[in-house]
Amino acid sequence: MNILWILFIAAVICVTGDRQGFPRLSSKFSRSPSSKNHETDIIPKPINRLVPIKSNPILPFPKWLTDFTGLKEWPGLDPPYIPLDFIDFNKIIDTPRHQQAQCSNPMLRTPTACSFDCFNCVDFDDVYTCPKLSQTFDDGPSPYTLKLLDSFNATNTKTTLFTLGINIVRHPDVYRQSHARGHIMGSHTWSHQFLPGLSNQQIIAQIQWSIWAMNATAGHLPKWFRPPYGGIDNRVRSILRQFGMQAVLWDFDTFDWKMLDSTNNRKEQDVYNDVKRFQVRNQAKGIMLEHDAILKTVNVGIEINKNILKEQLTIPECVGGINYIKTFQ
Ligand SMILES: [Zn+2]
Repeated sequence: MNILWILFIAAVICVTGDRQGFPRLSSKFSRSPSSKNHETDIIPKPINRLVPIKSNPILPFPKWLTDFTGLKEWPGLDPPYIPLDFIDFNKIIDTPRHQQAQCSNPMLRTPTACSFDCFNCVDFDDVYTCPKLSQTFDDGPSPYTLKLLDSFNATNTKTTLFTLGINIVRHPDVYRQSHARGHIMGSHTWSHQFLPGLSNQQIIAQIQWSIWAMNATAGHLPKWFRPPYGGIDNRVRSILRQFGMQAVLWDFDTFDWKMLDSTNNRKEQDVYNDVKRFQVRNQAKGIMLEHDAILKTVNVGIEINKNILKEQLTIPECVGGINYIKTFQ
């Protein structure tokens, strides 16, 4: 989730398609671990290297989405806010907006704000750990995702993928195959923005377009949501809950993305050693943060799955929750 997407060529293909009408969302929650504070390996996240993405959307823009939004093509990095009748702005908790790693506002320390990115604060419905240490992957789908999932086939385990809307519409077949193989598809927003720095409307837009990309591709509405950069506070949560979704955080960050920048001097073996140490220290429990957008981090994910964590759970298995809020067809 720490991979910043900036170089995005915003040309889009306008093709009309057909799909079911815009679905209403339920707000059913599933059980999640309840806890106050917890120890994590998380440190303030630096904005790291840029990853150029040059492909255009290939997923047809569905007719039901044109009917609902009045638009005819997938948006770029700044998706438009479309009003939704089930969102009550009076239920959105008012916390100060802040940018990534700018945590000096004392309000952010309070339980009212409960900032995870600043102070590792988790709320009652956040999922951040698991009875079995399990991998999760952010920022796909990518051309490397299925290679990663082949490894999970070999160990007969499933994983959880937190996907970006902009990448779903570029790699819809990868998304469909990942889902068809039984892996859990979660949302990681439309275009990887740091949500606590956005307006309420911009946050809603990041979530709604992500859900629409998932629904248009595989006919389901996600339950599980991972905020980019761990950027979540009670304002973001109070919006997320109105979509019926729950935040999934982590208690072990592999910092796999640091391998991509030689100035970090982080090697594959460093990641493996850190995983093994955490496994011992945390009694083989936990949720790990990894990325499936880059070949190098995918190869590390495969190695961890094959040689360290052969038995794993998906996020709904971790908490006894549902896979999706709703599936169609
Ligand atoms: Zn991410």
